[in-house]
Amino acid sequence: MEKIAILGAGITGFSAAHRLHIEGLESVIYEKKSHYGGNSASFKNNGFIFDVGPHVSFTKNERIQKLFAESVNHEYEVVHVRANNYRKGHWIKHPAQCNLYGLPENLVVDVLSDFIDVHGREFKKINNYKEWLIASYGKTFAENFPMQYGLKFHTTTADNMSTDWVAPRMYRPEMKEVLHGALSPSTPDVHYVTHFRYPSQGGFVSYLDLFLDRTDLQLNHELIGLDPKKRELRFKNGIVTSYNYIASSLPLPELIPMISGVPSDVLEASQRLACTTCVVVNIGINREDISDAHWTYFYDRDIFFTRLSFPHMQSIHNVPPGAGSIQAEVYYSNKYRPLDRTPQECIEPVLSDLRRCGYIREDDRILHCHASIIPYANIIFDLDRAEALSTVHEYLDEIGIFYCGRYGEWGYHWTDESFVSGENAARNVLDGMS
Ligand SMILES: Cc1cc2nc3c(=O)[nH]c(=O)nc-3n(C[C@H](O)[C@H](O)[C@H](O)COP(=O)(O)OP(=O)(O)OC[C@H]3O[C@@H](n4cnc5c(N)ncnc54)[C@H](O)[C@@H]3O)c2cc1C
Repeated sequence: MEKIAILGAGITGFSAAHRLHIEGLESVIYEKKSHYGGNSASFKNNGFIFDVGPHVSFTKNERIQKLFAESVNHEYEVVHVRANNYRKGHWIKHPAQCNLYGLPENLVVDVLSDFIDVHGREFKKINNYKEWLIASYGKTFAENFPMQYGLKFHTTTADNMSTDWVAPRMYRPEMKEVLHGALSPSTPDVHYVTHFRYPSQGGFVSYLDLFLDRTDLQLNHELIGLDPKKRELRFKNGIVTSYNYIASSLPLPELIPMISGVPSDVLEASQRLACTTCVVVNIGINREDISDAHWTYFYDRDIFFTRLSFPHMQSIHNVPPGAGSIQAEVYYSNKYRPLDRTPQECIEPVLSDLRRCGYIREDDRILHCHASIIPYANIIFDLDRAEALSTVHEYLDEIGIFYCGRYGEWGYHWTDESFVSGENAARNVLDGMS
């Protein structure tokens, strides 16, 4: 039997293995950590379950919905999403462009008059995300909302970003929707996530249960070298093994330097690929009525976190009875905003701003508090990405490494897209065999 190696035990690695299993093929997954799941993993501490970063499934792909449902024996929550935004003491429904009601009058008037100016105009040539924002929403909204949030989330300015990731994430409303949302607090839900599903028990990682027996999972196998000519893999634990076919979900800037004989231009391109690093601060308190929204976006630069989620609102089994939980995300990046403190040092400013915004009260008891880091979080679609990525991908195509997942394709993949990407890598293996 030909040996099929899969690198990385995240959702992508498992979907590749699952697809091969359906064809009667065996595979081995090599994972550097002592647990599986990658960014879809979940952990339980002090009775609180937190996912690595906040994870919910909002896939519209019925096949994947069905697989995830089977994975948790059909025990999942279906939740109608309430998402909102915080800006300078004001809370408004998401997306902000259709929900201006409650913001200061002058700001609303400026946003509306700029929006009226640009609405219905044909786009001229758009060179970057900043131009797209101004052409879509007008200058006032662009500068006060998505450009502020974007700087916190992507860690770089909008004029340094492309627009190939924007649809369907940035909603472009009709004039009537904007006017309605400026005059009334009650508006239709137009966010691209209206509902989500989440496992009732065990956190998001339970969605992988179905796939665990479909492969030979080798934990504690950190790849440190890959020889494409000898078709050989070297691991940090001293093990050396061969492969006939390989699918990798490893982050490209990590994978490429490990490849023997990699040309210098490819190596250089891989190091130009930018990604955010997320510090996640998980907090458990002795009260569940913390927030009305399932998640909230924060625009102000002097608020330490970028986004908050509330895992006990995803499943009540994520917390001990009567407790509530908060997950705060703070974004950095090697390229644009290097980490200037340890995750531990992020706890105090997070707690302080949670108090400032009214989430945590003086008499609340903190039952759990922990900070961790996601080294590879969201791909930054900066203006370097497209060219650098095509250099890297062409090289991997040449040497027969099938790349997949969020960090192999280097895209904005949600879990369902990562799942399909893993299946596609498996199909490439199958095509290679026929
Ligand atoms: C903060 C955050 C929130 C998100 N929220 C959602 C959400 O709500 N819904 C949703 O659908 N998607 C969400 N996503 C996206 C989702 O996390 C990804 O689509 C998905 O987890 C990518 O899976 P993957 O298997 O491709 O990568 P990963 O999960 O990163 O898996 C890659 C694996 O490779 C391993 N690895 C790395 N280097 C080596 C090495 N040298 N040797 C061996 N193994 C190695 C890693 O340890 C990891 O286990 C979110 C992502 C982030 C960062």
